[in-house]
This record gives sequence, structure tokens and C-alpha cells, in this order.
Amino acid sequence: MRVSISEVFTSIEGEGIYIGTKTLFVRLAGCPLRCFYCDTPYALEIGNGIYYDIDDAKALIKKKVENNTFKVNFTGGEPLLQHEAVRELARYVRDDLMLKTYLESSCYDASRFLHVLPYIDICKVEFKLNDSHAIDEKHYNRLVENELLCLKHAIKSGKATYIKVVVSSLSRREDIEELVRMIFEDAAISKAIDGFVLQPVNGTGINEPTLEYMLALYDTVHQYYPDVRIIPQIHKVMGIP
Ligand code: SF4
Repeated sequence: MRVSISEVFTSIEGEGIYIGTKTLFVRLAGCPLRCFYCDTPYALEIGNGIYYDIDDAKALIKKKVENNTFKVNFTGGEPLLQHEAVRELARYVRDDLMLKTYLESSCYDASRFLHVLPYIDICKVEFKLNDSHAIDEKHYNRLVENELLCLKHAIKSGKATYIKVVVSSLSRREDIEELVRMIFEDAAISKAIDGFVLQPVNGTGINEPTLEYMLALYDTVHQYYPDVRIIPQIHKVMGIP
């Protein structure tokens, strides 16, 4: 088995509820989506990564792990594009290196997600809004269905799970309200998740939401999930990878 990897590096987790933890990032190459705010354009094409035999990729991860690493973050690109390899790498990290594994995914394919899930400790399930332009209008509902299925699978499997939604000045309150209504239709979900993060687009200067608008979006989610948080990407503020 081979795997295309864009980069492997240690940094500070810059987003979400595990912000500030020392993390080894394994950035898989390739993504089937095209969000307008994508901050890893160099990792969108699978052919732009370096191809490794799976055992060489394991050796690379082992070599790069530093002391006191809190978790190994499988990110991208979109890690589920290479789900077989991610499953094997996550198994290795968990069982051989005895480290926590974290999957950062847009959850575009629930069957691939299920395949990887047994070897993942922490799931960040990202829901894309229509204004992200991640996918064409025709396939958008299918994407959300998969994201919701992934969320339910993660919760059912007892994984530490939280939700992230990237918001911009283009994000419509009614779209967010519809999304959160659908997510929290099942009352068990609000008790089972560890958080709901609204992440403002920042650092690009394009469609960044104002404070007033972020607070309006916060209020919209708050009706359904009071522990909502607005958390920007701190690594961009700090100027680190
Ligand atoms: S899913 Fe992630 S990697 Fe893919 S285009 Fe969107 S932001 Fe970029």
C-alpha cells in the first residue's frame, strides 16, 4: 500500500476544542472538495504529495514524533480520500506508538469514515455550509447527509467528538439555523458531543465576518446548543504552521 503525504510536522493545535496541544500533523494529500477559504491549496491534489510505502510512512511518523506529543492529527487535504492508508497509519500510531489519534475531516463519505473510525480517538466532524462552495449545489445535500451520518457513527462508537463549522460574511443565518436544527433534532446529540465550534474565516482578508455578525451566528446556534464557541485559528495569528 502507498500513501501520498503533503507534510508531517509538529506544531501547536491552532483550532477547535483541543487548541494549544502539542500535535504531530500528518497532512494527507488530495481533497475532492473546493472550499473558497481553503488554506492548504498545496494539498488539494493527491499528485502534489510525496508517495511513501506504508511502512516508510510509519517510519517517518515515528521519526517525527516529539516528546510529550498530545495527539497525532490526520488532516489534509481530506484524509478520507486515502482511507485505507489512514486506517493503517492510525492503527500504528495508536497500537504501536501508544498515542492518541485525531481525525480532522469534512466527512464527505460515511462508509470511508466508518472504516477508519476503529483506530481514531477524537473526531472533529466538520459541516460545510453551502456558501463554502465546497461542492456544487446538486450534491450539497448528499454531503450534509454524509456529515450527519459520520457524526452519529462517531457518537455511537463512543469517540470524543465535536463539530466545527467555518463561517464567513457570506454565511446565511437561516442556513446555519437549518443545519443546527437538523443536527440537534436528535436530543441525544447535544449531550454526546464535546463542543460546537464556529470558526470564522480569517487570515485571507476575504469574506471575513464582523464581530457583530459572528455574535448573531453564535446566538443562532445557542438556541440549540448553549455551549457553542467562536474560536479562530490561532496558528494564523501566531504566524506558525
Ligand atoms: S475540505 Fe479542507 S482541504 Fe478540502 S478544500 Fe475544503 S478546506 Fe481545503
